[in-house]
Amino acid sequence: MKSYDAIVIGSGAGAIISDEAASKSLKVALVDKGPLIGGTCLNWGCIPSKMLIYTADRIVEIEEATKLGIEAEIKNIDFHSIMERMRQSRQESQAHIREGLKQSKNLDFYEGAGYFVGDYLLEVKKEKLRGEKVFIASGSRPFIPPIKGSENVDYLTNESVLELKERPDSLIIIGGGYIAVEFGHFFAAMGTKVTILEMADRLVLSEEPEISDLLKSELSKRMGVYTNALAEEVKESEHGVVVVTKNTNTGKRREFAAQRIMMAVGRRSNADILRVENTGVETDKKGFIKVNEYLETNQKGIFAIGDANGQQMFRHMANREAEIVAQNTFYGTKIKVDYSAVPHAVYSHPQVASVGLTEAKAREDYNIIVGRMKYFDIAKGEAMMEKEGFAKAIVEKGSDTILGFHIIGPYAPELIQEVVNAMTSGGGTEELGQGIHIHPALSELIPTTVNSVGES
Ligand SMILES: Cc1cc2nc3c(=O)[nH]c(=O)nc-3n(C[C@H](O)[C@H](O)[C@H](O)COP(=O)(O)OP(=O)(O)OC[C@H]3O[C@@H](n4cnc5c(N)ncnc54)[C@H](O)[C@@H]3O)c2cc1C
Repeated sequence: MKSYDAIVIGSGAGAIISDEAASKSLKVALVDKGPLIGGTCLNWGCIPSKMLIYTADRIVEIEEATKLGIEAEIKNIDFHSIMERMRQSRQESQAHIREGLKQSKNLDFYEGAGYFVGDYLLEVKKEKLRGEKVFIASGSRPFIPPIKGSENVDYLTNESVLELKERPDSLIIIGGGYIAVEFGHFFAAMGTKVTILEMADRLVLSEEPEISDLLKSELSKRMGVYTNALAEEVKESEHGVVVVTKNTNTGKRREFAAQRIMMAVGRRSNADILRVENTGVETDKKGFIKVNEYLETNQKGIFAIGDANGQQMFRHMANREAEIVAQNTFYGTKIKVDYSAVPHAVYSHPQVASVGLTEAKAREDYNIIVGRMKYFDIAKGEAMMEKEGFAKAIVEKGSDTILGFHIIGPYAPELIQEVVNAMTSGGGTEELGQGIHIHPALSELIPTTVNSVGES
Protein backbone atom coordinates (compact mmCIF):
# COMPACT_ATOMS: atom_id res chain seq x y z
CA MET A 1 0.00 0.00 0.00
CA LYS A 2 1.20 3.51 -0.81
CA SER A 3 0.34 6.56 1.28
CA TYR A 4 -0.20 10.04 -0.12
CA ASP A 5 -0.89 13.47 1.30
CA ALA A 6 -3.50 13.89 -1.40
CA ILE A 7 -5.26 11.58 -3.84
CA VAL A 8 -7.09 13.23 -6.73
CA ILE A 9 -9.52 11.10 -8.76
CA GLY A 10 -10.12 12.54 -12.21
CA SER A 11 -7.76 14.51 -14.44
CA GLY A 12 -10.30 17.06 -15.73
CA ALA A 13 -10.67 19.95 -13.29
CA GLY A 14 -9.11 17.59 -10.74
CA ALA A 15 -5.72 18.33 -12.33
CA ILE A 16 -5.94 21.88 -10.95
CA ILE A 17 -5.93 20.40 -7.44
CA SER A 18 -3.16 17.87 -8.08
CA ASP A 19 -0.96 20.57 -9.66
CA GLU A 20 -1.51 22.87 -6.69
CA ALA A 21 -0.78 20.09 -4.18
CA ALA A 22 2.38 19.05 -6.05
CA SER A 23 3.57 22.66 -6.18
CA LYS A 24 3.33 22.74 -2.37
CA SER A 25 5.72 19.72 -2.29
CA LEU A 26 2.99 17.40 -1.06
CA LYS A 27 3.03 13.77 -2.15
CA VAL A 28 0.21 13.43 -4.64
CA ALA A 29 -1.48 10.63 -6.57
CA LEU A 30 -3.56 11.55 -9.62
CA VAL A 31 -5.81 8.75 -10.84
CA ASP A 32 -7.68 8.63 -14.14
CA LYS A 33 -9.31 5.71 -15.85
CA GLY A 34 -8.33 6.92 -19.32
CA PRO A 35 -8.03 6.01 -22.16
CA LEU A 36 -7.97 9.76 -22.83
CA ILE A 37 -6.86 11.92 -19.95
CA GLY A 38 -7.77 15.52 -19.24
CA GLY A 39 -11.49 14.93 -18.69
CA THR A 40 -14.75 15.24 -20.59
CA CYS A 41 -14.47 18.90 -21.59
CA LEU A 42 -11.20 18.38 -23.41
CA ASN A 43 -11.92 15.01 -24.97
CA TRP A 44 -15.67 14.50 -25.42
CA GLY A 45 -17.31 17.79 -24.41
CA CYS A 46 -16.70 21.51 -24.73
CA ILE A 47 -13.62 21.57 -26.94
CA PRO A 48 -14.34 18.94 -29.59
CA SER A 49 -18.02 19.91 -29.83
CA LYS A 50 -17.21 23.58 -30.27
CA MET A 51 -14.56 22.85 -32.89
CA LEU A 52 -17.26 21.10 -34.87
CA ILE A 53 -19.92 23.71 -34.18
CA TYR A 54 -17.66 26.56 -35.32
CA THR A 55 -17.77 25.09 -38.82
CA ALA A 56 -21.55 24.68 -38.59
CA ASP A 57 -21.91 28.34 -37.61
CA ARG A 58 -19.98 29.43 -40.69
CA ILE A 59 -22.15 27.26 -42.93
CA VAL A 60 -25.39 28.66 -41.55
CA GLU A 61 -24.02 32.19 -41.81
CA ILE A 62 -23.40 31.63 -45.51
CA GLU A 63 -26.84 30.10 -45.97
CA GLU A 64 -28.48 33.02 -44.21
CA ALA A 65 -26.53 35.66 -46.12
CA THR A 66 -29.42 36.02 -48.56
CA LYS A 67 -31.15 38.22 -45.98
CA LEU A 68 -28.31 40.71 -46.55
CA GLY A 69 -28.63 40.47 -50.32
CA ILE A 70 -25.76 38.03 -50.79
CA GLU A 71 -26.30 34.95 -52.94
CA ALA A 72 -23.72 32.35 -51.97
CA GLU A 73 -23.31 28.71 -52.77
CA ILE A 74 -21.51 26.15 -50.63
CA LYS A 75 -19.73 23.81 -53.01
CA ASN A 76 -18.55 21.13 -50.67
CA ILE A 77 -18.53 20.30 -46.97
CA ASP A 78 -15.69 17.94 -46.15
CA PHE A 79 -17.16 16.09 -43.18
CA HIS A 80 -14.16 13.81 -42.90
CA SER A 81 -11.62 16.63 -42.59
CA ILE A 82 -13.86 18.59 -40.19
CA MET A 83 -13.96 15.53 -37.90
CA GLU A 84 -10.24 14.84 -38.35
CA ARG A 85 -9.26 18.39 -37.37
CA MET A 86 -11.12 17.87 -34.09
CA ARG A 87 -9.58 14.43 -33.49
CA GLN A 88 -6.10 15.69 -34.37
CA SER A 89 -6.37 18.54 -31.87
CA ARG A 90 -7.45 16.07 -29.19
CA GLN A 91 -4.51 13.81 -29.94
CA GLU A 92 -2.05 16.69 -29.71
CA SER A 93 -3.40 17.76 -26.32
CA GLN A 94 -3.05 14.17 -25.05
CA ALA A 95 0.66 14.17 -25.89
CA HIS A 96 1.06 17.54 -24.19
CA ILE A 97 -0.72 16.46 -20.97
CA ARG A 98 1.13 13.16 -20.70
CA GLU A 99 4.46 14.94 -21.10
CA GLY A 100 3.44 17.42 -18.36
CA LEU A 101 2.55 14.58 -16.00
CA LYS A 102 5.91 12.88 -16.60
CA GLN A 103 7.75 16.08 -15.74
CA SER A 104 5.71 16.74 -12.60
CA LYS A 105 7.68 16.22 -9.40
CA ASN A 106 5.89 14.85 -6.31
CA LEU A 107 3.09 13.46 -8.45
CA ASP A 108 2.42 9.80 -9.30
CA PHE A 109 -0.03 9.28 -12.13
CA TYR A 110 -2.11 6.09 -12.12
CA GLU A 111 -3.96 5.25 -15.30
CA GLY A 112 -6.81 2.95 -14.43
CA ALA A 113 -10.31 2.94 -12.97
CA GLY A 114 -10.10 3.47 -9.22
CA TYR A 115 -12.63 2.35 -6.65
CA PHE A 116 -12.79 2.66 -2.90
CA VAL A 117 -12.17 -0.48 -0.88
CA GLY A 118 -12.20 1.16 2.56
CA ASP A 119 -12.01 4.50 4.34
CA TYR A 120 -9.65 6.81 2.41
CA LEU A 121 -8.44 3.68 0.62
CA LEU A 122 -8.53 3.44 -3.16
CA GLU A 123 -7.62 0.50 -5.34
CA VAL A 124 -6.27 1.06 -8.85
CA LYS A 125 -4.96 -1.77 -10.99
CA LYS A 126 -4.52 -4.00 -7.94
CA GLU A 127 -2.52 -1.31 -6.11
CA LYS A 128 -3.88 0.19 -2.87
CA LEU A 129 -3.50 3.91 -2.23
CA ARG A 130 -4.29 5.66 1.02
CA GLY A 131 -4.89 9.41 1.03
CA GLU A 132 -4.74 11.82 3.93
CA LYS A 133 -7.01 14.01 1.82
CA VAL A 134 -9.08 12.77 -1.09
CA PHE A 135 -10.47 14.92 -3.91
CA ILE A 136 -13.17 13.32 -6.02
CA ALA A 137 -13.36 14.91 -9.47
CA SER A 138 -14.63 11.85 -11.29
CA GLY A 139 -17.15 13.68 -13.48
CA SER A 140 -20.15 12.21 -15.24
CA ARG A 141 -21.06 10.06 -18.23
CA PRO A 142 -24.00 9.95 -20.65
CA PHE A 143 -27.27 8.82 -19.08
CA ILE A 144 -28.88 6.16 -21.24
CA PRO A 145 -32.65 6.11 -20.73
CA PRO A 146 -34.30 2.71 -20.28
CA ILE A 147 -36.02 2.67 -23.68
CA LYS A 148 -37.33 -0.68 -24.87
CA GLY A 149 -34.97 -2.20 -27.44
CA SER A 150 -32.11 0.29 -26.91
CA GLU A 151 -29.76 -2.50 -25.82
CA ASN A 152 -30.05 -4.03 -29.30
CA VAL A 153 -29.38 -0.82 -31.21
CA ASP A 154 -25.99 0.71 -32.03
CA TYR A 155 -26.76 4.21 -30.75
CA LEU A 156 -24.36 7.15 -30.64
CA THR A 157 -23.52 9.18 -27.55
CA ASN A 158 -21.58 12.43 -27.20
CA GLU A 159 -18.49 10.19 -27.03
CA SER A 160 -18.94 7.77 -29.92
CA VAL A 161 -20.32 10.48 -32.21
CA LEU A 162 -16.86 12.05 -32.28
CA GLU A 163 -15.44 8.90 -33.86
CA LEU A 164 -17.71 9.04 -36.93
CA LYS A 165 -15.78 8.78 -40.19
CA GLU A 166 -18.78 9.29 -42.45
CA ARG A 167 -21.67 11.69 -42.20
CA PRO A 168 -24.96 9.95 -41.49
CA ASP A 169 -27.64 10.76 -44.06
CA SER A 170 -30.20 11.02 -41.29
CA LEU A 171 -30.00 11.17 -37.51
CA ILE A 172 -32.57 11.02 -34.72
CA ILE A 173 -31.46 12.70 -31.50
CA ILE A 174 -33.32 11.63 -28.38
CA GLY A 175 -33.28 14.53 -25.94
CA GLY A 176 -33.72 18.28 -26.20
CA GLY A 177 -31.12 19.66 -23.82
CA TYR A 178 -28.02 21.57 -24.79
CA ILE A 179 -26.07 18.56 -26.07
CA ALA A 180 -29.00 17.55 -28.30
CA VAL A 181 -29.53 20.97 -29.84
CA GLU A 182 -25.80 21.62 -30.30
CA PHE A 183 -25.27 18.34 -32.17
CA GLY A 184 -28.57 18.87 -34.03
CA HIS A 185 -27.22 22.22 -35.27
CA PHE A 186 -23.90 20.64 -36.28
CA PHE A 187 -25.31 17.70 -38.21
CA ALA A 188 -28.02 19.75 -39.92
CA ALA A 189 -25.32 22.13 -41.15
CA MET A 190 -23.31 19.15 -42.43
CA GLY A 191 -26.30 18.11 -44.53
CA THR A 192 -27.73 15.36 -42.34
CA LYS A 193 -31.51 15.15 -42.02
CA VAL A 194 -31.90 15.67 -38.26
CA THR A 195 -34.90 14.87 -36.06
CA ILE A 196 -34.93 15.93 -32.41
CA LEU A 197 -37.32 14.08 -30.09
CA GLU A 198 -37.86 15.67 -26.67
CA MET A 199 -40.35 14.28 -24.16
CA ALA A 200 -40.86 17.60 -22.31
CA ASP A 201 -43.07 20.30 -23.76
CA ARG A 202 -40.07 22.44 -24.70
CA LEU A 203 -36.36 22.34 -25.51
CA VAL A 204 -33.57 23.40 -23.11
CA LEU A 205 -35.67 23.21 -19.97
CA SER A 206 -33.43 25.31 -17.75
CA GLU A 207 -33.85 28.33 -20.05
CA GLU A 208 -36.66 30.89 -20.11
CA PRO A 209 -39.78 29.47 -21.88
CA GLU A 210 -39.68 32.19 -24.55
CA ILE A 211 -36.07 31.29 -25.31
CA SER A 212 -37.06 27.64 -25.69
CA ASP A 213 -39.87 28.70 -28.02
CA LEU A 214 -37.67 30.82 -30.26
CA LEU A 215 -34.98 28.13 -30.32
CA LYS A 216 -37.56 25.56 -31.40
CA SER A 217 -38.97 27.73 -34.15
CA GLU A 218 -35.52 28.63 -35.49
CA LEU A 219 -34.19 25.06 -35.37
CA SER A 220 -37.40 23.82 -36.98
CA LYS A 221 -36.43 25.71 -40.13
CA ARG A 222 -33.50 23.32 -40.51
CA MET A 223 -34.60 20.06 -38.86
CA GLY A 224 -37.54 18.21 -37.38
CA VAL A 225 -38.13 19.22 -33.76
CA TYR A 226 -40.79 17.31 -31.84
CA THR A 227 -41.59 18.13 -28.23
CA ASN A 228 -43.95 16.06 -26.03
CA ALA A 229 -42.45 13.12 -27.92
CA LEU A 230 -41.63 10.36 -25.46
CA ALA A 231 -39.39 7.70 -27.04
CA GLU A 232 -40.90 4.39 -26.00
CA GLU A 233 -39.10 1.92 -28.21
CA VAL A 234 -36.17 1.77 -30.60
CA LYS A 235 -35.62 -0.98 -33.12
CA GLU A 236 -33.32 -1.72 -36.00
CA SER A 237 -34.74 -1.56 -39.48
CA GLU A 238 -33.50 -2.36 -42.96
CA HIS A 239 -32.27 1.23 -43.41
CA GLY A 240 -31.15 2.00 -39.86
CA VAL A 241 -33.31 2.63 -36.83
CA VAL A 242 -36.94 3.28 -36.03
CA VAL A 243 -38.06 5.14 -32.90
CA VAL A 244 -41.61 4.77 -31.64
CA THR A 245 -42.81 7.80 -29.70
CA LYS A 246 -45.90 8.53 -27.64
CA ASN A 247 -47.25 12.06 -27.57
CA THR A 248 -47.40 12.96 -23.88
CA ASN A 249 -50.53 15.11 -24.46
CA THR A 250 -52.60 13.03 -26.83
CA GLY A 251 -51.17 9.55 -26.24
CA LYS A 252 -50.85 9.15 -30.02
CA ARG A 253 -48.00 6.95 -31.23
CA ARG A 254 -45.74 7.80 -34.14
CA GLU A 255 -42.73 6.23 -35.81
CA PHE A 256 -39.59 8.08 -36.88
CA ALA A 257 -36.89 6.46 -39.02
CA ALA A 258 -33.25 7.41 -39.57
CA GLN A 259 -29.90 5.91 -40.44
CA ARG A 260 -28.44 6.60 -36.98
CA ILE A 261 -29.70 7.51 -33.54
CA MET A 262 -28.02 9.50 -30.78
CA MET A 263 -28.90 9.46 -27.07
CA ALA A 264 -28.55 12.89 -25.49
CA VAL A 265 -30.91 12.92 -22.53
CA GLY A 266 -28.53 14.01 -19.78
CA ARG A 267 -25.62 12.95 -17.64
CA ARG A 268 -25.18 10.61 -14.72
CA SER A 269 -22.54 10.64 -12.01
CA ASN A 270 -19.50 8.34 -12.07
CA ALA A 271 -19.65 7.98 -8.26
CA ASP A 272 -21.14 4.48 -8.65
CA ILE A 273 -18.08 3.17 -10.55
CA LEU A 274 -15.93 4.71 -7.83
CA ARG A 275 -17.96 2.92 -5.12
CA VAL A 276 -17.82 6.00 -2.88
CA GLU A 277 -20.03 4.25 -0.31
CA ASN A 278 -16.99 2.14 0.66
CA THR A 279 -15.36 5.25 2.07
CA GLY A 280 -18.58 6.39 3.70
CA VAL A 281 -19.35 9.17 1.20
CA GLU A 282 -23.05 9.90 0.69
CA THR A 283 -24.75 10.50 -2.64
CA ASP A 284 -28.13 12.02 -3.47
CA LYS A 285 -31.09 10.26 -5.14
CA LYS A 286 -29.51 10.66 -8.58
CA GLY A 287 -26.11 9.36 -7.47
CA PHE A 288 -24.30 12.72 -7.31
CA ILE A 289 -22.01 13.21 -4.33
CA LYS A 290 -23.49 15.37 -1.56
CA VAL A 291 -21.33 18.36 -0.57
CA ASN A 292 -21.64 21.42 1.65
CA GLU A 293 -20.82 24.98 0.65
CA TYR A 294 -17.10 24.25 1.06
CA LEU A 295 -17.43 21.23 -1.26
CA GLU A 296 -16.74 18.90 1.66
CA THR A 297 -18.49 15.54 1.63
CA ASN A 298 -19.88 14.04 4.83
CA GLN A 299 -16.47 12.37 5.34
CA LYS A 300 -13.80 14.64 6.85
CA GLY A 301 -10.99 15.35 4.40
CA ILE A 302 -12.89 14.08 1.35
CA PHE A 303 -14.09 16.66 -1.18
CA ALA A 304 -16.12 16.41 -4.39
CA ILE A 305 -15.90 18.95 -7.18
CA GLY A 306 -17.24 19.40 -10.71
CA ASP A 307 -19.79 17.11 -12.34
CA ALA A 308 -19.24 14.56 -9.54
CA ASN A 309 -21.34 16.74 -7.20
CA GLY A 310 -23.91 17.61 -9.89
CA GLN A 311 -24.34 21.25 -8.80
CA GLN A 312 -23.55 23.24 -11.97
CA MET A 313 -22.22 20.88 -14.59
CA PHE A 314 -19.98 23.15 -16.62
CA ARG A 315 -16.24 23.11 -16.97
CA HIS A 316 -15.85 26.75 -15.88
CA MET A 317 -17.64 25.89 -12.63
CA ALA A 318 -15.63 22.69 -12.11
CA ASN A 319 -12.49 24.81 -12.47
CA ARG A 320 -13.74 27.36 -9.94
CA GLU A 321 -14.68 24.61 -7.48
CA ALA A 322 -11.24 23.01 -7.89
CA GLU A 323 -9.58 26.36 -7.19
CA ILE A 324 -11.71 26.86 -4.07
CA VAL A 325 -10.93 23.46 -2.52
CA ALA A 326 -7.24 23.84 -3.40
CA GLN A 327 -7.18 27.29 -1.75
CA ASN A 328 -9.04 26.12 1.34
CA THR A 329 -6.97 22.96 1.73
CA PHE A 330 -3.46 24.11 0.87
CA TYR A 331 -3.59 27.80 1.84
CA GLY A 332 -5.82 27.67 4.91
CA THR A 333 -8.62 29.88 3.58
CA LYS A 334 -12.31 29.16 4.21
CA ILE A 335 -13.99 30.25 0.98
CA LYS A 336 -17.58 29.22 0.21
CA VAL A 337 -18.66 28.34 -3.29
CA ASP A 338 -21.08 30.89 -4.75
CA TYR A 339 -23.49 29.74 -7.47
CA SER A 340 -25.43 33.01 -7.78
CA ALA A 341 -23.75 34.22 -10.98
CA VAL A 342 -22.71 31.09 -12.86
CA PRO A 343 -23.21 31.66 -16.58
CA HIS A 344 -23.76 29.01 -19.20
CA ALA A 345 -24.16 28.92 -22.95
CA VAL A 346 -25.85 26.79 -25.58
CA TYR A 347 -23.92 26.77 -28.84
CA SER A 348 -26.86 26.06 -31.08
CA HIS A 349 -28.02 28.38 -33.83
CA PRO A 350 -29.25 30.74 -32.49
CA GLN A 351 -26.88 30.81 -29.55
CA VAL A 352 -28.16 31.12 -26.00
CA ALA A 353 -26.51 32.40 -22.84
CA SER A 354 -27.87 32.89 -19.34
CA VAL A 355 -26.81 33.84 -15.86
CA GLY A 356 -28.69 33.88 -12.57
CA LEU A 357 -32.37 33.26 -11.99
CA THR A 358 -35.12 32.69 -14.51
CA GLU A 359 -38.16 34.95 -14.22
CA ALA A 360 -40.26 32.15 -12.68
CA LYS A 361 -37.61 31.29 -10.10
CA ALA A 362 -36.99 34.96 -9.24
CA ARG A 363 -40.72 35.55 -8.66
CA GLU A 364 -40.72 32.88 -5.93
CA ASP A 365 -38.46 34.96 -3.67
CA TYR A 366 -38.35 38.53 -4.99
CA ASN A 367 -40.47 41.40 -6.14
CA ILE A 368 -39.14 41.88 -9.64
CA ILE A 369 -39.19 44.05 -12.72
CA VAL A 370 -38.34 42.68 -16.15
CA GLY A 371 -36.76 44.30 -19.19
CA ARG A 372 -36.60 43.03 -22.77
CA MET A 373 -34.83 44.27 -25.84
CA LYS A 374 -34.51 42.87 -29.34
CA TYR A 375 -31.18 42.84 -31.16
CA PHE A 376 -32.98 44.59 -34.02
CA ASP A 377 -33.75 47.55 -31.77
CA ILE A 378 -30.07 48.43 -31.43
CA ALA A 379 -28.09 49.78 -34.37
CA LYS A 380 -25.71 46.84 -34.83
CA GLY A 381 -28.51 44.30 -34.56
CA GLU A 382 -30.40 46.12 -37.32
CA ALA A 383 -27.26 46.17 -39.48
CA MET A 384 -27.04 42.40 -38.99
CA MET A 385 -30.74 41.96 -39.85
CA GLU A 386 -31.13 40.10 -36.59
CA LYS A 387 -34.89 40.26 -36.24
CA GLU A 388 -35.67 37.52 -33.72
CA GLY A 389 -32.92 37.47 -31.08
CA PHE A 390 -33.49 39.26 -27.80
CA ALA A 391 -32.21 39.79 -24.27
CA LYS A 392 -34.14 39.77 -21.02
CA ALA A 393 -33.11 41.29 -17.69
CA ILE A 394 -34.64 40.38 -14.33
CA VAL A 395 -34.04 43.01 -11.68
CA GLU A 396 -35.12 43.27 -8.07
CA LYS A 397 -37.71 46.02 -7.65
CA GLY A 398 -36.59 48.83 -5.41
CA SER A 399 -32.90 47.98 -5.67
CA ASP A 400 -30.82 47.80 -8.82
CA THR A 401 -29.73 44.18 -8.22
CA ILE A 402 -29.62 42.06 -11.35
CA LEU A 403 -31.07 38.66 -10.49
CA GLY A 404 -30.93 37.08 -13.92
CA PHE A 405 -30.08 37.83 -17.52
CA HIS A 406 -30.89 35.75 -20.60
CA ILE A 407 -29.91 36.20 -24.24
CA ILE A 408 -30.77 34.37 -27.44
CA GLY A 409 -29.01 35.51 -30.59
CA PRO A 410 -25.59 36.03 -32.13
CA TYR A 411 -22.60 36.15 -29.77
CA ALA A 412 -24.81 35.57 -26.72
CA PRO A 413 -21.99 33.70 -24.86
CA GLU A 414 -19.65 36.67 -25.30
CA LEU A 415 -22.28 39.33 -24.54
CA ILE A 416 -23.37 37.80 -21.22
CA GLN A 417 -19.91 38.26 -19.68
CA GLU A 418 -20.50 41.95 -18.92
CA VAL A 419 -23.52 41.04 -16.83
CA VAL A 420 -21.65 38.22 -15.06
CA ASN A 421 -18.87 40.63 -14.13
CA ALA A 422 -21.35 43.19 -12.82
CA MET A 423 -23.24 40.57 -10.77
CA THR A 424 -20.04 39.08 -9.36
CA SER A 425 -18.51 42.39 -8.35
CA GLY A 426 -21.68 43.48 -6.58
CA GLY A 427 -22.53 46.02 -9.26
CA GLY A 428 -26.11 46.51 -10.37
CA THR A 429 -27.98 48.05 -13.25
CA GLU A 430 -26.47 51.48 -12.55
CA GLU A 431 -22.88 50.23 -12.90
CA LEU A 432 -23.79 48.48 -16.14
CA GLY A 433 -25.09 51.69 -17.60
CA GLN A 434 -22.15 53.80 -16.42
CA GLY A 435 -19.53 52.20 -18.64
CA ILE A 436 -19.49 53.78 -22.09
CA HIS A 437 -20.41 51.24 -24.75
CA ILE A 438 -19.02 51.45 -28.26
CA HIS A 439 -21.61 52.60 -30.77
CA PRO A 440 -22.73 50.82 -32.80
CA ALA A 441 -21.75 47.51 -31.17
CA LEU A 442 -23.75 44.50 -30.04
CA SER A 443 -22.64 45.22 -26.47
CA GLU A 444 -25.21 48.06 -26.46
CA LEU A 445 -27.81 45.31 -26.10
CA ILE A 446 -26.90 44.93 -22.43
CA PRO A 447 -27.49 48.48 -21.09
CA THR A 448 -30.51 48.99 -23.35
CA THR A 449 -32.11 45.81 -22.00
CA VAL A 450 -31.40 46.88 -18.44
CA ASN A 451 -32.76 50.40 -19.14
CA SER A 452 -35.97 48.90 -20.50
CA VAL A 453 -36.99 47.31 -17.19
CA GLY A 454 -40.47 48.31 -16.23
CA GLU A 455 -43.28 47.25 -13.95
CA SER A 456 -44.58 43.78 -14.75
C1 LIG B 1 -21.06 17.15 -25.37
C2 LIG B 1 -20.72 18.01 -24.19
C3 LIG B 1 -20.46 19.35 -24.40
C4 LIG B 1 -20.12 20.17 -23.34
N1 LIG B 1 -19.90 21.49 -23.58
C5 LIG B 1 -19.57 22.28 -22.56
C6 LIG B 1 -19.26 23.66 -22.79
O1 LIG B 1 -19.31 24.14 -23.92
N2 LIG B 1 -18.90 24.42 -21.73
C7 LIG B 1 -18.85 23.90 -20.46
O2 LIG B 1 -18.51 24.63 -19.52
N3 LIG B 1 -19.13 22.62 -20.21
C8 LIG B 1 -19.47 21.80 -21.23
N4 LIG B 1 -19.73 20.48 -20.98
C9 LIG B 1 -19.67 19.99 -19.58
C10 LIG B 1 -18.24 19.77 -19.15
O3 LIG B 1 -17.60 18.90 -20.06
C11 LIG B 1 -18.19 19.19 -17.75
O4 LIG B 1 -18.94 20.00 -16.88
C12 LIG B 1 -16.76 19.12 -17.22
O5 LIG B 1 -15.96 18.36 -18.08
C13 LIG B 1 -16.73 18.54 -15.82
O6 LIG B 1 -15.41 18.47 -15.38
P1 LIG B 1 -15.00 17.47 -14.22
O7 LIG B 1 -13.55 17.72 -13.96
O8 LIG B 1 -15.93 17.55 -13.11
O9 LIG B 1 -15.20 16.01 -14.84
P2 LIG B 1 -14.55 15.35 -16.12
O10 LIG B 1 -13.96 16.35 -17.01
O11 LIG B 1 -15.58 14.44 -16.66
O12 LIG B 1 -13.35 14.50 -15.52
C14 LIG B 1 -13.58 13.34 -14.81
C15 LIG B 1 -12.40 12.41 -15.02
O13 LIG B 1 -12.51 11.36 -14.04
C16 LIG B 1 -12.12 10.16 -14.63
N5 LIG B 1 -12.76 9.07 -13.86
C17 LIG B 1 -14.08 8.83 -13.72
N6 LIG B 1 -14.29 7.77 -12.93
C18 LIG B 1 -13.07 7.34 -12.55
C19 LIG B 1 -12.61 6.28 -11.74
N7 LIG B 1 -13.45 5.45 -11.14
N8 LIG B 1 -11.28 6.12 -11.58
C20 LIG B 1 -10.40 6.94 -12.20
N9 LIG B 1 -10.79 7.98 -12.97
C21 LIG B 1 -12.09 8.15 -13.15
C22 LIG B 1 -12.60 10.26 -16.07
O14 LIG B 1 -11.83 9.43 -16.91
C23 LIG B 1 -12.39 11.75 -16.37
O15 LIG B 1 -11.16 11.99 -17.00
C24 LIG B 1 -20.03 19.63 -22.03
C25 LIG B 1 -20.26 18.27 -21.81
C26 LIG B 1 -20.60 17.46 -22.87
C27 LIG B 1 -20.83 16.00 -22.63
